[in-house]
Amino acid sequence: MLSAVSVSAGCKPAGRTDCKSMFRTARYFNPPLSWRIWNFFPRALGLAALVSVYGCSFRTAPLWEEFSGAKAFGHVQHLVELGPRPAGSEALEKSRIYIADQLKSFGWTTTRSEFSASTPRGMMTFVNLVARFGNQEGPAQFLLCSHYDTKTFDAIRFVGANDGGSSTGLLIEMARVLAINPALAAKVELVFFDGEEAFENFTATDGLYGSHHFASELRELAKNFRGGILFDMIGDKSLQVTLSPDSPIDLARNIFAAADALGQRAHFTYFGGGITDDHTPLNEIGIPVIDLIDFDFPPWHTAEDTLDKISAESLEIVGRVALYDVMQFELK
Ligand SMILES: [Zn+2]
Repeated sequence: MLSAVSVSAGCKPAGRTDCKSMFRTARYFNPPLSWRIWNFFPRALGLAALVSVYGCSFRTAPLWEEFSGAKAFGHVQHLVELGPRPAGSEALEKSRIYIADQLKSFGWTTTRSEFSASTPRGMMTFVNLVARFGNQEGPAQFLLCSHYDTKTFDAIRFVGANDGGSSTGLLIEMARVLAINPALAAKVELVFFDGEEAFENFTATDGLYGSHHFASELRELAKNFRGGILFDMIGDKSLQVTLSPDSPIDLARNIFAAADALGQRAHFTYFGGGITDDHTPLNEIGIPVIDLIDFDFPPWHTAEDTLDKISAESLEIVGRVALYDVMQFELK
């Protein structure tokens, strides 16, 4: 399917037009054979020169190869430099502004969904960010999600490079890449959840505030979605994505197949136990969403969850596998 590949970044439409017009010009002349022979090599050299000048390439790169771990890492770095970003903090508001500005620069429109919820620390205000490509108003078909808050700690400085940062940076880079294929981007909704973290311990009433609210609002529209992918803690230098055993089976099979196709199968496995995360409220309203999470991360919820624990390479592996899955399976 032609729409499943993108023109390589360096090949501008103008360059392709020039190449075609050169071929047309060559067809209209019918000079003597000797003239044609003596003129063949200079013309060929001229064509090669033009190709190199205009960056005209006859090779097209698959869209997933456009996903840059370095760019995703740059977004994580920016977020981490804002400091701890717990729910209700000024730094989290700065995160929202950064995310929305980045998405806007790639052609996405971000909506703020603000709500209040009762927490162990009293009523708190949360803000989910929901983004669509361009001015799409019809229902999307697939969700790509991440939480962007970091856990509240009173005793340590917790910046959540991996937990809160990595998946948010990945989703911003995903927005840039999807925008290269507007028809594909139109089918996707990007969701950045606030309040994933519990204020105390993770229970049925503490944690997942943003995804619970999002799911409660989406309930009537759930049938429009074919599924979704949640990203969480996918930047670990030692990447081992651990799928929950109760992951939607079709999505799990497709993720493994996508990882296999890209030579990254060794980075994906099943986790030993169930995982409750922002995908859980979505699964409960009937949208199959898989959680791509590396739960084997020793600095989890410690002051050591810092930039030096994550890598651009890991972000790139997960970003490309997810994009391959979306294009070749979920939205094919
Ligand atoms: Zn966490």
